[in-house]
Amino acid sequence: GQAAALLAREAALEVAGEGSFYFGPIADRAGFHQALVRTITDMKEALLRADTFDQAIHGGAVDKEMHARKLLSLLGLWRGYERRLSELGRLDGTDLVTFAIGGLMQAGTDEASLAVLYGFYDLNEQQKWLLNAFCGDSDSLVLFPTDACPAFAWTEKTRQWFESAGFQAEHYGHAGAGRRAPELQHLVRRLFARPDGSAAPAAGAVGILSAPGVAREAREIAREVLAAVDADESLRFSDIAIVVRTVEPYRRVLTEVFETAGIPLHVVHPPPLGETPTGKAALLLRELVQRDFPRAKVMEFATGFDLAEGEGTAPVAWDQMTMEAGIVGGSKEWTERLPRVGACRQPGDEDTPEPEPLTERREAVANGLRRFMRRLLAFGEELRAASTFTSAAAAITGCLRDLLAPSAERDTVTRAVDALTDLDVLGQTADGTTVGRALEALLGNEPDTAFVTDSNGVVFADVMAARGTSFRLVFVPGLVEKSFPVPARQDPLLLDHERFRLNNVLTGLGTGGELPEKGARIAEEKLLYRLACGIATERLVVSYPRLDPTTGRDLMPSHFVLRTVEALTGERATLQALEAFPGYVRVPLSRLPPEDLGRSVDRLEFDLGQVERALRGNHAGTALYLKQLSKHFERGVRAERNRWGATQFTAWDGMLDLPSCLPLLGEHALEHEPVSPSALETFGTCPYRYLLSQVFRLSVQEEPERAITISPADRGELIHTILERFHEGLREGNSWPPPLDAEERLSKLTETELDRFAQTGAVGFPLFWELAKQTIREDLRTVLRLEQAEAGVWRPELLEQKYGRDEQATGAPSIELAEGRAVRFSGRIDRVDLDTTKQRARVVDYKTGRKQSLKPDSFAGGTSLQLPLYLIAAKHLLADRKPQPELERAFFWYVSAKAEFGRVEFTAGDWPSKLETLKRILGTFADCVRGGSFFAVPDEAKKCGYCDFALVCGAGKEQVFQRKERDPRAAAYLGLSDIA
Ligand code: SF4
Repeated sequence: GQAAALLAREAALEVAGEGSFYFGPIADRAGFHQALVRTITDMKEALLRADTFDQAIHGGAVDKEMHARKLLSLLGLWRGYERRLSELGRLDGTDLVTFAIGGLMQAGTDEASLAVLYGFYDLNEQQKWLLNAFCGDSDSLVLFPTDACPAFAWTEKTRQWFESAGFQAEHYGHAGAGRRAPELQHLVRRLFARPDGSAAPAAGAVGILSAPGVAREAREIAREVLAAVDADESLRFSDIAIVVRTVEPYRRVLTEVFETAGIPLHVVHPPPLGETPTGKAALLLRELVQRDFPRAKVMEFATGFDLAEGEGTAPVAWDQMTMEAGIVGGSKEWTERLPRVGACRQPGDEDTPEPEPLTERREAVANGLRRFMRRLLAFGEELRAASTFTSAAAAITGCLRDLLAPSAERDTVTRAVDALTDLDVLGQTADGTTVGRALEALLGNEPDTAFVTDSNGVVFADVMAARGTSFRLVFVPGLVEKSFPVPARQDPLLLDHERFRLNNVLTGLGTGGELPEKGARIAEEKLLYRLACGIATERLVVSYPRLDPTTGRDLMPSHFVLRTVEALTGERATLQALEAFPGYVRVPLSRLPPEDLGRSVDRLEFDLGQVERALRGNHAGTALYLKQLSKHFERGVRAERNRWGATQFTAWDGMLDLPSCLPLLGEHALEHEPVSPSALETFGTCPYRYLLSQVFRLSVQEEPERAITISPADRGELIHTILERFHEGLREGNSWPPPLDAEERLSKLTETELDRFAQTGAVGFPLFWELAKQTIREDLRTVLRLEQAEAGVWRPELLEQKYGRDEQATGAPSIELAEGRAVRFSGRIDRVDLDTTKQRARVVDYKTGRKQSLKPDSFAGGTSLQLPLYLIAAKHLLADRKPQPELERAFFWYVSAKAEFGRVEFTAGDWPSKLETLKRILGTFADCVRGGSFFAVPDEAKKCGYCDFALVCGAGKEQVFQRKERDPRAAAYLGLSDIA
């Protein structure tokens, strides 16, 4: 099929440029090539030849309703297709049958042979010719389904042909009629007949099930199967069949539901190889090359499939590392950044932005990632260089073998991919698109299967495979309009009215042959439904889903359901009256567990039902057995009770004052080692946020491909670096106040740093990056102008100065608390300026984010501590200066137009009183940490909206807080909110 489609493509591309070519705009669409092959096959099966078609077009088939240009283009394509076949010396599938018939006619048939034919109910012209040639003079027996039931109208034409061909009719009665329940017998005879008041005898053999969706429909079928096998000892799973018009979506959903319910299922049509994990891996490999290795897709390959074991094979860690390295995709980017992978780490808070050191394990994992990616990139080069299907197949199978763990499935898929090599016979160049389409077609084919009835499981098959068989209990799901009956689809290249007209002209020309009209196939759907119903001998359940789960829209039950009711009741049926049918069951959307828990399909339903009963009857005891079954259940119940039931903070709110926790918290005590001012501010904002970020060390990892623009943290870091390097340069050249060329220097430095940052890839979309760069350039120019205005008074003395970390811990700046305790600080100060007399000092802290609504000299209830702590740290840093400068103030400088280059300051005036306040705040924090008090203090508007952990806290956190805020253990902390 794929080879024929490729020939059709060649034929289409050959004439695509011609102005008169009707199909020009779709000439290279894969769907068009397949449709063209189907139309050509149809015409050849109708025993038409391109010359006959030509005659018909010029012999009057074209009238005002028919498009001459279209038909002539179709003729040109057909001829091009045949010409290529002939040049290659090949036959397509239809030619092969014609060739075989010719051989058969030449050889003649043995008179003693007996031909037995079954499984036909309609014949194309080529098949009729074959039968004539094959049956010839020999005895032939044709088993042909026909009946007085109106559903067999579709077979009538073929029956008449058999008669005209000299076959004698003998009637064998109804298949399975002797064993069929009277009600079912009545149904299969009366289906699609006009209701005439004749009702079926005893009721109960036919059920109609309406379920909310396909998944629920499958679940209810499983329930019916279990109930039927329980009720009748002689009924085995293999006596039951599920018959569908089309296997999907039922194959997937039934397989899953039946597996959980422990019911063996014999799936007659296994899924195509492309749906197996290794088949998906093969398709994904091709997509990776086509899209040039996007990071997310590469990680889908690494994490989604069973990789071959190797040192450093850790796909989840690879995902993290590639995000940290800011890789978005592209072979070039992978090649450039792979050497750096593993070395980049998320920075700490804004006071301690240094990366963490590389560990041995991390190095091994990074090496594993490099090996994996080098193999993938090499595969990309191989596939791009491949000019034949053989070399493309070798590249794909080689990569699958190198990267995936060995398995039988891997062997099957690689064998299937090897079949691509057959296409080289066409002599076409195997470009990426052609290989992709061929691979998809190859792996999309359903494997050949045989219908076996000796399995131990419930048989699941489509009606074409199951027709003619008998099962005691049969389910026919999926009875929804447009699913069963499947709507008749016209051939887009040769519509029915064109076929009709062509047939008339062909008859007039006496060339024989008849093109089938597609619309007529709707009658076949009735036959298929009748055949599906006829499979049941004791009970039949037809069912339909009412809702489409993807859109939530109502689904219309198939009118075949109504015809079923009419056949059984003898009365006209309507959708509104459907519920009155005695065998009708409507499964509600709201309920999962059944009323009778003995009818539960699996443990989940049974357990849910028990819990529901316990809640309804208010006797929890009936559900307590779940504690023994699942530790998660008990933990869930405990969490629920502690979080929502208690009126004081519990461990589920971050109150870790349990004897088992307190010793572990020792090393996190604020007095234990130097702590950064911003970490202390985090505690002041919300102790639970501090617990997650500082104690548990959790952080959010942004996926680089999701970044629209540079992140606020990266922007801040970039601006800090530019300003530091700029001032450093001026200081080295002793160039203060800034010289005349300062703006040019700043501009050069800015461009260098912007280019360096762009190498990380974390810049978002190109347009947004251009806008961000422009804003950064303009903001920095304004900062320089503002600097120049006060350059005569203040001069930068210390830049990006670290404190507390690099020296002996005892040398870190600190605040003495009560009882001889002390909290020490560490971090980094952006800048300390001295005045021209070197007697006065000030601390400058650049801010690049949004402006906070802070008042001067404010502690904001313990949430604003950086400025007073910087004053202490700066004093510590300048301690050995003679004369010692007096620290006047510290201020945030918002270095952006968005924040209007505003400043918020904290002065050293009235310092003893401010120091006492600071001691009270830090003392309270230290007590909380020692006592394990990390309760969440939410504020949706001010804090939680900007918090990385909003998802962890979930909904309802403010209600929980209001319920527990009077807990005496929280009183000291919450009392700090009074501090201005
Ligand atoms: S979401 Fe709110 S309550 Fe939760 S940690 Fe963040 S700030 Fe605290």
